Amino acid sequence: MRGLGTGTRLSPSFGSAFPQTVGCGSLLVMTIEVPSALALSALAMSLIVAARYAISSGAFALATHRVRPGLYTGLNNQIRREVGWSLASAAIYGIPAGIVAWGWQNRGWTLIYTDFADHPLWYLPASLFAYLLLHDTWFYWTHRLFHQPRWFRLAHAVHHESRPPTAWAAMSSTRSRQ
Ligand SMILES: [Zn+2]
Repeated sequence: MRGLGTGTRLSPSFGSAFPQTVGCGSLLVMTIEVPSALALSALAMSLIVAARYAISSGAFALATHRVRPGLYTGLNNQIRREVGWSLASAAIYGIPAGIVAWGWQNRGWTLIYTDFADHPLWYLPASLFAYLLLHDTWFYWTHRLFHQPRWFRLAHAVHHESRPPTAWAAMSSTRSRQ
């Protein structure tokens, strides 16, 4: 009889979407489940980035409408372009973020922790500050790189095509039409 206590051991990760052991049929399960879990994570993260964009840019567009009514008059085509490019950018940001989030949860790829007791309390604000400093430095230098002619044409022209810029251009920064 196969059952509990008779030597049939379940993998420690049984029940999660990513079985670690490769047994009868589980290689097939793993090869299907890992890519679909990755795709799901990438999709979820892209949707989160898109929703964040819609909420923040929408709020700024609404505030602009209240403070400067008519400022965006006649810019409908430009705004449509800005929203389209921004949603494309949501996928460009969201897909790698989704892959890393999956790796954090399932492969321990990152140093992200969720239990305050894992590190001394001072580490929390210090790591947040270090993260902001590193991220801002990265953002500054990549933005400077994108203003080099070759990179500008390739990846940044669309962002500066918005003249006058509207709130919807916030993430409109992918490839230019060449
Ligand atoms: Zn720029």
